[in-house]
Amino acid sequence: MKILLLGKNGQVGWELQRSLAPLGELIALDRHVVGGLCGDLTNLDALRETIRQVRPGVIVNAAAYTAVDKAESEPELADCVNGQASRVMAEEAAALGAWLIHYSTDYVFSGQGSMPWQEADPVAPVNQYGASKLAGELAITASGCKHLIFRTSWVYGARGNNFAKTMLRLAKDRETLSVISDQIGAPTGADLIADVTALAIQQVMHSPQLAGLYHLAASGEVSWHGYACHVVGLAQSCGEQLAVKAINPIVTTAYPTPARRPLNSRLNTQKLRENFSLHLPDWQSGVTRMLTEVLNK
Ligand code: NDP
Repeated sequence: MKILLLGKNGQVGWELQRSLAPLGELIALDRHVVGGLCGDLTNLDALRETIRQVRPGVIVNAAAYTAVDKAESEPELADCVNGQASRVMAEEAAALGAWLIHYSTDYVFSGQGSMPWQEADPVAPVNQYGASKLAGELAITASGCKHLIFRTSWVYGARGNNFAKTMLRLAKDRETLSVISDQIGAPTGADLIADVTALAIQQVMHSPQLAGLYHLAASGEVSWHGYACHVVGLAQSCGEQLAVKAINPIVTTAYPTPARRPLNSRLNTQKLRENFSLHLPDWQSGVTRMLTEVLNK
C-alpha cells in the first residue's frame, strides 16, 4: 500500500513519518517540490497533479495553516491551505478510491459551556482559523471520499515549538509568569496522535464502516495555567535552574489576542475509544515524557 503524507515536518507530521512507516511505502512531502512531487497546499493544481502521479491508497494530511492569530489578517491563505487544499485532496481521494486521513480542531466549536464536545455537537467557530478548519471538514465529508477526520486539541511534540517549551524558556528568564486559567482543554502529544492514526488506519482498512469524524485528545483536562504549573514543577524536579518564583492565573480577557480563543476546548473521545478499542492516556504522562526528552534527563 502506498501512503502519501503531506506536512511531514510539522509536529504531527514528524511523528507520522515514524508511525506510518510500517504500514506501507511512505511518500512524505513538505511544501517543497521533490522529484516532481509538490506538497505545497497553496498550489492546488500541483497538489492535484501530485496525488494523480503517486496514486496512493491512503493520503494523510498533517499540513495545515496553524498560525491562529495570523489567520485573522490572512483569512484567504488560511482558507486555501485548510479549506480548499482539503477539498482537492478529498476529490482526488474519491476519484482514486483512496482513504483520506485528516486533522481538525476543537476550534470548530464556540467554546461555550463546560461539557466535553461530542462529534455531532453544533459547530460555531469563533475565529478565522477555526472557520478555515471547518471548511476543510465540510469539503471532505461532502466529497464522499472514504475518510477519517480527527479533531484534536492543544498539540505538543518534542520537535517544534509549543506552549510547554515556551513556558520552560520563560521560566528560565522571568521571576513571574501570568498564564490564562479560564481556557480548559487537554494537551495532546503529536506522538499519541500519530500512533492512534496508524492503529486506526489498520482497523479501518478491514472495517470501512468505522470511517468518519472522531475526537482525539489525551484524557483529563487542565487550564493553560495548570499546564504551565505542571511543566515548571516537573522541570524543577529534574534539577533545572529556573528564575520563576510565581505563576499567576489570569483570565482570557486580560490577555487580548488578534484571534478570539474558545474557553471550553474539552473533547469527548468516547466514540474513538469505543469504535477502535483504544485507550487514551492522561495528558500528564505524555507531557512528562516529552519534557523528559526535551530536558534530556
Ligand atoms: P504544525 O504547525 O506543527 O505543522 C503544520 C505543518 O503544515 C508544518 O510542517 C507546515 O510547514 C505545514 N504547512 C503550512 N502551510 C503549508 C502549505 N502551504 N503547504 C504545505 N505545508 C504547509 O501543526 P501540528 O502538527 O500541530 O498540527 C497538525 C494538525 O492538527 C493540523 O491539522 C492542525 O490544524 C491540527 N491541530 C493542531 C493543534 C495545535 O495545537 N497545534 C490543535 C488542534 C488541531 P512549514 O513548517 O513549512 O510552515
